[in-house]
Amino acid sequence: MKIVSSVAAMQRLALKWRRAGTRVALVPTMGYLHDGHLSLVKRARQAVGQAGLVVASIYINPTQFGPKEDLAKYPRDLPRDTQLCQTAGVDVLFTPDNAEMYPGKAEGAYSTFVVEESLAQGMEGASRPTHFCGVTTVVAKLFNLVLPEVAVFGQKDYQQAAVLQRMTEDLNFPIKLIIAPTLRADDGLALSSRNQYLNAEERAQATILFHALEASKLAVKSKPVAAARLKADLQEFLTAAPLARLDYLEFFDPLTLQPVSKVQRGHQMALAVFFGKTRLIDNARL
Ligand code: AMP
Repeated sequence: MKIVSSVAAMQRLALKWRRAGTRVALVPTMGYLHDGHLSLVKRARQAVGQAGLVVASIYINPTQFGPKEDLAKYPRDLPRDTQLCQTAGVDVLFTPDNAEMYPGKAEGAYSTFVVEESLAQGMEGASRPTHFCGVTTVVAKLFNLVLPEVAVFGQKDYQQAAVLQRMTEDLNFPIKLIIAPTLRADDGLALSSRNQYLNAEERAQATILFHALEASKLAVKSKPVAAARLKADLQEFLTAAPLARLDYLEFFDPLTLQPVSKVQRGHQMALAVFFGKTRLIDNARL
C-alpha cells in the first residue's frame, strides 16, 4: 500500500492513472476506522475489480465541524488505520493535512466553498448549519484530487449521501456514487467512530436508536400512521433510555428528503440523539 500525503502528489498520481485508463474507486473517511469503513473498501474493490485501484482517504475535515463541535477531540489513530487499510486491500491511502487542503484559510487566502441548497436544509443541516458546506467542499476537492470513477459512501449518513449525490449530478462530476448499507454491532448500534466517546452506561442505552427504527418499521407495517402521532409515541419510547436526549426525529420521502405527514412503508426515518456531549445518528427505510 502506498501512502500519499501531499495534494500535488495525489493529483499527479491520479492523472497518471487516468492516462493509463486505470479504474479508480475512492472511499473518503475521517479515520478511526471500523468495520463499517472497511465494508466500503470491500465494496469499492468489487466496483473496480482486482485490476483497478482503491484509494481510501483519511482526513478530519475542519470545515464540516461547527465551532462548538468535537473537531479537537475527534478520535485519531493513524498507525492503526494504516494497518487496517493495508489488511483490507487498499492500494493508496491519502492523508492530506489542513495546510494543503485549505492553504492560507485563516488569512482569507482560501475562499471557495461548495453549497448544496436544498437537500442539505433539514435534519443534520438544521442542527449543524455549516456542516454540509464543509462536506460538499471537501468531497468535491477529493474528487478533483483522486479523479475516481466510483466513490463509496455509507447509508449510515443518509442525508450526506443524498446531498453528495445531488452535488455530483449538479456539478457534472463523471463519478458514480455507491451507497453501502450500515454495519451494526450485534446489539444493533450502528458502528461509528464516535461510539468510543460513550461510557458503559451510555453505550448500553445507545441501542435505543436502533430499537426506535425497528419500532417504527413495525408501527407502519400494516397501515400508514400520522407522523405527529408516531413522533409522540417515539418520544415516549425514548424515555426507556434516560441518558438519551433527542435532537431530531424525522420521517421523510427517501428521494426528496421532504418531511411526510403520514408515514408509510417505503418512507425513510432518521434521528439524532445526544448521550452527554456525544451525538449519534441513525436512519432506516421503513
Ligand atoms: P466518517 O469517517 O464517519 O466520515 O465516515 C466515512 C464513511 O463511512 C461515510 O461514507 C460513512 O457514511 C461511512 N460509514 C460510517 N459508519 C458506517 C457504518 N456503520 N456502516 C457503513 N458505513 C459507514
